[in-house]
Amino acid sequence: MKQTFIGLALCAILAWGVWQQRPAPTHSDVTHRELFALGTLIQISVAGDIDAAVMNQAQAALNMLEQRWSVLGDGELAQLNQTLQTQARAALPTTLHDGFVAARQLCLDSDGRFDPGVGDLVRLWGFDDEDHFRDTPPPTPQLKAALQQRSSLCDSAIDAQSVVVDQPPARFDFGASAKGRAVDEVMSLLRAEGINNAIINAGGDIKVIGQRAQRAWRIGIRHPRPHDGRTMLASLNVHDGEAIFTSGDYERFLIHDGVRYHHIIDPRTGYPAQGSQSATVLHSSAERADAAATALFVAGPTDAASVMQNMGVEAWLLVDANGDIHASDAMRARVDDLAAP
Ligand code: ADP
Ligand code: MG
Repeated sequence: MKQTFIGLALCAILAWGVWQQRPAPTHSDVTHRELFALGTLIQISVAGDIDAAVMNQAQAALNMLEQRWSVLGDGELAQLNQTLQTQARAALPTTLHDGFVAARQLCLDSDGRFDPGVGDLVRLWGFDDEDHFRDTPPPTPQLKAALQQRSSLCDSAIDAQSVVVDQPPARFDFGASAKGRAVDEVMSLLRAEGINNAIINAGGDIKVIGQRAQRAWRIGIRHPRPHDGRTMLASLNVHDGEAIFTSGDYERFLIHDGVRYHHIIDPRTGYPAQGSQSATVLHSSAERADAAATALFVAGPTDAASVMQNMGVEAWLLVDANGDIHASDAMRARVDDLAAP
């Protein structure tokens, strides 16, 4: 009897010890859910359990944003673009108003490198829709005409009810900022639902809340030209409320006569921007980070620092067309194992 008691006591002490030594929560304490929206697989990872109802809410919000900001179909932006084919003034639905105002400011801040007014050019290149994909560049006369008649969002007038462009036809494409706006919105939704530790990964573009199990969320920045088993350009810890977005020439492109024509258009030339392979930006606003990554890509190495300063971005990283790396001091201080070119 006494021995049994001692045995039981030993067991209890051992069990207590094992319980005390449980490892800090790791991978298995992070749950993942994949949603699809805005042409991208969106992975939401939460430290702890994922509440299915919250994920359904997130999916519903993303579906609404996709419908609202798509250039295809018959959502609000598509209808507005339809009006601007023949008229200089279009009614601006309240659901689009803030996004238009924010994008116009981003257009101005980037000195026109980020400009949703490239809609007709993007369409001409066939990057607006998989069904429009082409295997040769558009004919030069068509490109010249589209460039000449396009209306910049920077120069458009926006009031509470309408948007007015220089001249019709005009077409706005928010492909370079709508994903960021959506990520901001989903993050707010998660926070409002009491989720304090999460990461949202929208096709490599990221925003985080809190931490991953007492450690920072850690992410890798994709190498634009993976080689010798090196797939990442650098890695870094991303902290509460930070977003990190990358624009690259490897996302959507066609190769013709050995030349790569990709989906990031220089609004000044009508052609895919020439100076960069990839551009990465860190900022608290995912919408600004998204637009700034596109603007940095278009700016290229010569104008990178001044454009980023005007856009209020401190930490940025650019791989230029030769594969050389340019980075702000603030970014260099954040990244580990930055790849040699
Ligand atoms: P991704 O969508 O691959 O993350 P971006 O954020 O850079 O890359 O967005 C590129 C998309 O934005 C293009 O597919 C096109 O719809 C649109 N776009 C292309 N060039 C510009 C530009 N200079 N300014 C604003 N939007 C652009
Ligand atoms: Mg972008």
